[in-house]
Amino acid sequence: MLLKIKEPLKTADTSVPMLITAATTCVLFMLIAGGLVYANTRRTVTAADWVNHTQEVLNSLRTASQMTDRIDSSTLLFQATNDEARLDVARTSARNLDSAATHLRVLVSDNPEEVINADQLVACSDGISGALNVAGKSAPPRSPIQRCQETIAKMMELERRLLTDREKTSEHTAMVSLTSDFVFVGLAILTLITVFGFLLRAAELRQSTESKVLETNRTLEESVALLQEQADETNVLTTSRDEMQLCVTLQDVYESAKNGFARLMPMTSGALCMLNNSRNMLETVATWGEMALEDCHLPGSCCGLRSGQPRWREPGASEVHCTHFSGQAPERYLCVPIMAHGDTIGLLYVECADAVCMENVHHRMAGMRQLTQLTGMAVASMKLRMKLEHQSIRDPLTTLFNRNFMEIALERELSRSRRKKQMLAVLMLDVDHFKEFNDRHGHAAGDAVLKAVAEVCQANTRNEDTACRYGGEEFTIILPEITPEHAYERAEALRHAISQVQVRGAGGSYGDLTVSIGLAMFPDDGTTPEVLLQKADQALYRAKGQGRDQVVVAMQPIFAA
Ligand code: GH3
Ligand code: MG
Ligand code: MG
Repeated sequence: MLLKIKEPLKTADTSVPMLITAATTCVLFMLIAGGLVYANTRRTVTAADWVNHTQEVLNSLRTASQMTDRIDSSTLLFQATNDEARLDVARTSARNLDSAATHLRVLVSDNPEEVINADQLVACSDGISGALNVAGKSAPPRSPIQRCQETIAKMMELERRLLTDREKTSEHTAMVSLTSDFVFVGLAILTLITVFGFLLRAAELRQSTESKVLETNRTLEESVALLQEQADETNVLTTSRDEMQLCVTLQDVYESAKNGFARLMPMTSGALCMLNNSRNMLETVATWGEMALEDCHLPGSCCGLRSGQPRWREPGASEVHCTHFSGQAPERYLCVPIMAHGDTIGLLYVECADAVCMENVHHRMAGMRQLTQLTGMAVASMKLRMKLEHQSIRDPLTTLFNRNFMEIALERELSRSRRKKQMLAVLMLDVDHFKEFNDRHGHAAGDAVLKAVAEVCQANTRNEDTACRYGGEEFTIILPEITPEHAYERAEALRHAISQVQVRGAGGSYGDLTVSIGLAMFPDDGTTPEVLLQKADQALYRAKGQGRDQVVVAMQPIFAA
């Protein structure tokens, strides 16, 4: 499976510079706003200070005015009543006026126009004080008092105007300050919100990128696991195929197929069952794990075989059970017909202990089908190979080895005997008067006799011996690793056994069969197949000549004595 990435992942490469820019802007705004607020506050405070200052001047002027009025009224009362106490009050008020004038001179020092007025007021005040102090018991002249009153009135007028202007300036400054503060603080808050919005967006982008990376990793892991599974499956199939090609017997094929299935579907148990030659019985030929399948069962007992396709039996999906179990049927199992060349030749049975195991088998169904096909083909080709081999080396009537095989076997056995320095015997056997038997009882009876003789030959041979039909009613038996005496005994035993045979045919039972046998030994009679066969044949010929139903050895001198 190819990994598909629908869209490239967006990287956050521009977010950091943007974030720095936004943060710097925000800080700058905050600094500017702070500076502006500070400057506005300073301006507002200054404007308020000036207003307070003017009011302080006005208050001082009012005090000075009161003092002047008190001096004026006290002096007038003194003149009217000649009361000394009034004069003292006037003098005290004059001193207070002096102080107020001096204080005013200091207060208005920033205003040149008012400085002139204040200087005049100081001068008037000094004049009044001087007049009162020198006046003795007489009232002071009224002109300095009037000048003082005029100067104070002038100063008050000027200060009131100043107060009006300064109040206006203060209000304006406060308004401007408030407005600019609001604007800059608003802009700073806006910048902050923008930065927070950007941070939020960046966080969302990062979160989305991370989840995409996680998703991609998960997909990648799944793909890797799938590829690994497919690689495992392919490995099992390849190994099984290679192994099956090396098999020389059917059982080898069954075993390697069984191993393949066990590796392909771990945690399962199962079996391979094959139809017998009559196709009426399924025989279990290989198993893995523990299961309750019968060794032999009828093809009709399997639902999978009846349906002709793989069939799962599992709880909830299919409740019908096969009947090929020796005990209670398991809960979960799979039956797969094994086919070859369109014919059903067997059954693959897979048993799962639980749902997880079944799920794993479901994932491996494709590989399992391929291995089943492979098994079917391997079994069929092995059977064909065995049949061809059988046909090429066996005689169809007697099923003994044919003459071709005998020649190859004799060559091989002679080499082995030569290597092992052992002796070897060749028996050449011919049924006596067989033509006559054929003529009297018919060809079918003759065939039955040949089969019976072949059976006796087969029954009287060891594993290492080779019994063959040489042709017609003649048979050859190769006896490796044997002495001449023992070979003669074996030939005699064979002749005797055949003479005891009763052959049942369509026309009845036939007995009195006799055979003549010629015996040649390696290496005494010959060291090549041709010479040995020739010597055995010559001995057989002599046996015929000497009256049949006897064994004649090629090396006559040994037995002549
Ligand atoms: P002898 O005792 O000298 O061997 O005489 P014989 O009659 O056995 O020998 P002969 O060679 O004259 O006859 C062999 C006969 O074997 C001839 C042939 O019809 C018969 N024969 C050969 N092959 C078969 C076969 O496959 N089936 C049958 N029924 N007869 C066969
Ligand atoms: Mg013959
Ligand atoms: Mg004969």
